[in-house]
Amino acid sequence: MTTLPIQDRQIAWSKINALDLFQQAPIAIYTTDVDGYINYFNTASVELWGRAPELGKDLWCGSWKIYQPDGITSLPLDECPMAVLLKEGRKMPEAEIIIERPDGKRINVLPHPEALYDQDGTMIGALNMMVDITDRRTIENTQAKFEAIVQSSTDGIISKNLDGIITSWNASAERIFGYKEKEMIGKPILTLIPEERKEEEQFILNRIRKGERVETFETQRLTKYGQLIDISLTISPIRNGSGHIIGASKIVRDITEIRKLEQRKDDFIRMASHELKTPITSINGYTQLLLNIYNEPYKEQHFHSDPIVKSSLETIARQVSKITRLIAELLDLSRIESAKLELVITEFKLENLLEEMVHDARHTTRQHVILFESEYKGMISGDQERLGQVFTNIIGNAIKYSRDADRIEVYLTKDKGFAVIRVKDYGIGIDPEDLTRIFERFYRAEGKSEQTYPGFGIGLFIAKEIVELHKGLIEVSSQKSKWSVFTVKLPLESVKKGE
Ligand code: ADP
Repeated sequence: MTTLPIQDRQIAWSKINALDLFQQAPIAIYTTDVDGYINYFNTASVELWGRAPELGKDLWCGSWKIYQPDGITSLPLDECPMAVLLKEGRKMPEAEIIIERPDGKRINVLPHPEALYDQDGTMIGALNMMVDITDRRTIENTQAKFEAIVQSSTDGIISKNLDGIITSWNASAERIFGYKEKEMIGKPILTLIPEERKEEEQFILNRIRKGERVETFETQRLTKYGQLIDISLTISPIRNGSGHIIGASKIVRDITEIRKLEQRKDDFIRMASHELKTPITSINGYTQLLLNIYNEPYKEQHFHSDPIVKSSLETIARQVSKITRLIAELLDLSRIESAKLELVITEFKLENLLEEMVHDARHTTRQHVILFESEYKGMISGDQERLGQVFTNIIGNAIKYSRDADRIEVYLTKDKGFAVIRVKDYGIGIDPEDLTRIFERFYRAEGKSEQTYPGFGIGLFIAKEIVELHKGLIEVSSQKSKWSVFTVKLPLESVKKGE
């Protein structure tokens, strides 16, 4: 390689055109004259614009279309940052734009326009360097979407590094554990682990360091308030861009409510088997008895008058109707769960329906006097059979749960736009903490065995669904060991056919 003497080097430098140097630069650079006509652009500009502008013809910039950073509002070319600089001498700081190329591809760009002056300080044009920030924006958008998903998840999502230090904490983690994000970032995950389960963390970290996932398992963790909660955990390794494991993400689900529901479902299945078996055993016994009587020689002539036959048939009929009701409740439950419980709306007199339900209930108890008072004589639109089912259930419960009482009261009144039905008994009452829960599926207030108070714990759940389908409401108030009042409010107007 030869070296030139110093003066020749200066001459050689002075012959190099700065714009020629830009030609192969990896960043888009172009210039315009003082009127905004493009008079130079490099290769990277053509790539960015997706087209080559016509020198001396294209104004302000070579873009096909440009938009504001929202990507929706279009920006006229004569309002682009280069045009603003040339026309008003004003620089728009950090004025991001989106360029749309003729092939439809969009590019996020940060333009850096600079005015060019001659030796006398007169503006002769401008040079613009356009930095492509599409990758940065794509990463930011992906991160924002990811962040939104994490924050809106109903599961707790936590990440930690390989030393077990918490690095992120979402809103559901806050809800499950009671700690705010700022209380937990930088804290050891061990804070959440009860003493007797501390070794779990070592096991988890060992798996994660090997790049292995820890499949969903059930365990217990501690809340901020020292309460032990049942959770399910799924843990996966987090890798950085070059594939190295840098931590773990944990998905936490609070399963305290789910176990309780499982427990109730188990109780329900046990109860359902018992409830169905008892009447079937009884029916079987009485049928055998009747067959024996029928088969016995010389007894045929007594068949119709035999009191055993009569009472046996009555028992069978009662048990069959009990089974029918239980099966109907089970069917309703599955209809509700698949949202297939539909109403058949007609107009009818509510007083008559209640009268009929009270009349039927009187036949099922010798012990109680069932009083019925009605102040509302008007019509209502609704599903007569389904509403009948609601009142049968409530009055039936009033009888069932007030064995030591002798009186049940049923009132029908009108309050503003509602028909109000109240059923009061003077029975065992309901604990305050059970008041809202008795309307839940399978819920039976504890302390009652099926021998004492048979039932499935789904009657009120179905009743509530039916009442709510009528746009009404059902509520209860009670004083333990004294009385209970179930109130149903049905709108007189809103339920119309097909609504
Ligand atoms: P069940 O078939 O068990 O009676 P329900 O859904 O009709 O089911 O009622 C749910 C629970 O509500 C009952 O198990 C009982 O604990 C309580 N309950 C309902 N009605 C009364 C009442 N009148 N008095 C006391 N407890 C009641």
